[in-house]
Amino acid sequence: MKYDIVIGLEVHSELKTQTKAFCSCKNEFGGQPNTHCCPICLGLPGALPTTNKTALEYTIKAGLAFNCKINNQAVFERKNYFYPDLSKAYQISQLEKPSCVNGYVTIDTLSGEKNIRINNIHMEEDAGKNIHDDFAGVSLVDFNRCGVPLIEIVSEPDLSSADEAVSYLEQIKESLVYIGVTDGKMQEGSLRCDVNVSLKPEGSKILGNRTEMKNLNSFKAVKRAIDYEVERQAKILDNDGRITQETRRWDDAKEESTSMRGKENSQDYRYFADRDLMPIIVEDDYVLEIAKNMPMLPRARRQYYINKLSLPEYDANVLTQDKIVSDYFDECLKILNEPKLVSNFVMSNVLRLSKSNLTPDIIEIRITPENLCDIIIMANNNVIISSGAKTLFEECWNSSKTPKVLVKELGLEQVSDESELLKTVTDIIEANPQAVQDFKKGNKKAITFFMGQVMKATRGKANPEVIKKIINQQLNI
Ligand code: ADP
Ligand code: ZN
Ligand code: MG
Repeated sequence: MKYDIVIGLEVHSELKTQTKAFCSCKNEFGGQPNTHCCPICLGLPGALPTTNKTALEYTIKAGLAFNCKINNQAVFERKNYFYPDLSKAYQISQLEKPSCVNGYVTIDTLSGEKNIRINNIHMEEDAGKNIHDDFAGVSLVDFNRCGVPLIEIVSEPDLSSADEAVSYLEQIKESLVYIGVTDGKMQEGSLRCDVNVSLKPEGSKILGNRTEMKNLNSFKAVKRAIDYEVERQAKILDNDGRITQETRRWDDAKEESTSMRGKENSQDYRYFADRDLMPIIVEDDYVLEIAKNMPMLPRARRQYYINKLSLPEYDANVLTQDKIVSDYFDECLKILNEPKLVSNFVMSNVLRLSKSNLTPDIIEIRITPENLCDIIIMANNNVIISSGAKTLFEECWNSSKTPKVLVKELGLEQVSDESELLKTVTDIIEANPQAVQDFKKGNKKAITFFMGQVMKATRGKANPEVIKKIINQQLNI
């Protein structure tokens, strides 16, 4: 039998705030176990939480990035459950009134663009971490991560293949990093996702029973886990079996999943309002202010570069991988509106020297857009010798001098003055009568020989166009 694959993702992303969601502990990955915690994030008696305003702002930013409606009240609830990494025995989360609802993410699929609806984005806190492998026979718990702010982005079951799921996840990660709310480091667990999968007879409107795999933290794991699950469910359905609604554990090393527990539902968590945290009014003006400062998202920016600036797709992809780079590129264009020329320079020089350590530095200290454009203009107008642009760029990167000063200091100026070059050319012509003969016999290659000689004599500084013109003039007399 043929089946439609139905997938919904719940993406958890840690928010890159200075402090935790409801206390002032440091929000930082790693550190000595149990050194970033306090009575509040440990849930000791009498401790009172306070909402981190930045975490809420980041949640709203994410909502705006994914076209959500922002609720005008931030209400927090307790999701009650026991687990050793959660000493409070409840997680502060949002259920009835998530901060962001009814959004969508546009992804690219084999058959074109597709909108994946987002049911809601809510703010919550992370739990600690159980450590099972470091000591034989005992498990230890590190509470450093508990209380770290998270958003959970819940999609509708609109994804219909593992590739679409990965594409969706890539889109989410890219956008969240771009708007600066998370670092997106999947290997450190700051972005992870729960994958819900079900099958239904091809074309059927009724959804099948789903299984859920929790905490997948790489694109590869998501793809493999879905492929495995689709095959497993198809086999059961082919044999007239029923899919049990359950939570399964994906083992990426073994490339298989095993049943973990029956699927809980929200009633099981006995959600109730957290009266320690009064609802926060989110004014429209506040949301508007955040919206006003949102950058153009990478996907839109890519399309803008391709469609409006006529850049090749490759360039558009490279330039939009990092917001710092796109911003820098845009600044350069304000000075020199030659997208492809500037793009070549940014890709070959700025990105080469900065490697992956891009910081706003490139704009502030290393090389301002003005300086970069000066180099491009000088190279393009033959003010500097052809190999000079790269040297000039490197020197400029490593010093605080401007390109205009460095060109002089380093002797990189091209010589274009005809009278200055004439003597050199005539000397070389006189010294090479054989080549002159060749030229007169119609061997046009002789001109290359002369050009080479002049370049050698001027140590590469002569303007090739100008010497070509002089040689032609001299030889055709
Ligand atoms: P829970 O937290 O209990 O998993 P949620 O409603 O928060 O429940 O999340 C459900 C997730 O599962 C959503 O991403 C949703 O799109 C997805 N989902 C719901 N029903 C199905 C289904 N039949 N097949 C695949 N995914 C589903
Ligand atoms: Zn704390
Ligand atoms: Mg779930």
